Amino acid sequence: MSKKEKQFVEEITPMEVDFPQWYTDVITKTDLVDYSPVKGFMVIKPYGYAIWENIQQYMDGRFKETGHKNCYFPLLIPESLLKKEAEHVEGFAPEVAWVTHGGQEELAERLCIRPTSETIICEMYSKWLKSYRDLPFLYNQWCSVVRWEKSTRPFLRTSEFLWQEGHTLHETYDEAQEETIQMLNIYKETAEELLAMPVVVGRKSEKEKFAGAHATYTMEALMHDGKALQAGTSHNLAQHFTTAFDITFLDRDGELKHPYHTSWGVSTRLIGGIIMVHGDNRGLVFPPGVAPVQVVIVPIAAHKGGVIEKADEIFSQLKESFRVEVDDRENYSPGWKFNEWEMKGVPIRIEIGPKDIEKQQAVLFRRDTLEKEVVPLEEVKEKVQGLLKDIHNNLLLKAKNMRDEKTYYIKSFDEMKEIMEKRPGFVKAMWCEERECEDKIKAETAASVRCIPFEQENLGDTCPFCGKEAKVMAYFAKAY
Ligand code: AMP
Ligand code: ZN
Repeated sequence: MSKKEKQFVEEITPMEVDFPQWYTDVITKTDLVDYSPVKGFMVIKPYGYAIWENIQQYMDGRFKETGHKNCYFPLLIPESLLKKEAEHVEGFAPEVAWVTHGGQEELAERLCIRPTSETIICEMYSKWLKSYRDLPFLYNQWCSVVRWEKSTRPFLRTSEFLWQEGHTLHETYDEAQEETIQMLNIYKETAEELLAMPVVVGRKSEKEKFAGAHATYTMEALMHDGKALQAGTSHNLAQHFTTAFDITFLDRDGELKHPYHTSWGVSTRLIGGIIMVHGDNRGLVFPPGVAPVQVVIVPIAAHKGGVIEKADEIFSQLKESFRVEVDDRENYSPGWKFNEWEMKGVPIRIEIGPKDIEKQQAVLFRRDTLEKEVVPLEEVKEKVQGLLKDIHNNLLLKAKNMRDEKTYYIKSFDEMKEIMEKRPGFVKAMWCEERECEDKIKAETAASVRCIPFEQENLGDTCPFCGKEAKVMAYFAKAY
């Protein structure tokens, strides 16, 4: 590696030295995002937006195959609507941005910029729903929302974020519960099958649940620095909003009833998760499913006869099946290009030069293990196909191992304090489920209850934090 090229990699602060700085270096130097003139709002550049498009495409397909349809509701919500569900307005009020003027004129009623759309959607649903024959309502929208966040970090927590929000109505509680869990499962499969990001799924504590929800379910991932990320949530809202908004339907028995309601969302936060789960000290490492570029072809000694032509030929073979690019920039050396594409997380690099052409071969480099292998030209396409699968599986396995190494069982509060201070990660412990206990844990360790997992283990009868009777096993962690 030449000196210049080495410096290039050294521009990224090693994650062991300063993880937040590593994250900032990686996202800005790889052209994913930029900071905007308004604090907390980010610009997503083409290389970053392509990841979101890949996530959207996959998830939208999953939503549609489970019977959901897309629609669009307005950005602005009248204050009177936001106030209809008491817990909801209390939870969101500190984060809401308001529109008070139209041009020069002050509005008779303030309008909030949606922090989430339950209220406006319920207002419309109350007009649309008449009979049990209309149910279920299975709608989703892709949009952005605004929550005035105090501390922000690109992708992970921004004041405006892109997301999808599903909002469904059902005849019975059981159907709504089934939908809530079905969508959480789709989220989990997206995390694992598309993003190679293992997640723990379960229920949120009463304190951590969505404002206005009957129950909130979550998927939680563990980042390289041992902090958890709430990567997606699915809420069973029961009849809380449908009662407040007086949504009724004529049931099979001739009676007017309130339907049962769910909502579920994932956001551009997922991109932050991918970066922090798979990235390394050379930069980004993208799972093939979302990589904006899956394969980059770098010609070596491109000025020599036939090299560019061969690179283009490989490109033509691959372009139907993969997201592929030829890097034929003349003002950069191959070494420079290697470094740049490694930093940008491209899963596979193909190197092709005069010597390779002579031997009818190409060199394939994989970003996850940094290994190179020589492949006969006629096998390149097949090899790429297999390698992308291998890379996905390897990233998922590595992430699982990393999570397992940072997952601890504890039996006492002291152990918990020591772990959160010295080697943060997921802590599994029995818990009494009481709010007072939860607040004390947070105050003394900065860890919160991430979820009460579906997969329960019995680790004892008492809560190690307060000594009361334990009701459940929970995951605790510091979180983003
Ligand atoms: P919620 O409606 O609060 O359940 O949010 C749905 C999902 O959006 C959460 O599970 C997060 O993954 C994500 N999310 C919430 N707040 C933010 C934020 N400020 N920036 C990015 N993503 C967010
Ligand atoms: Zn307790």
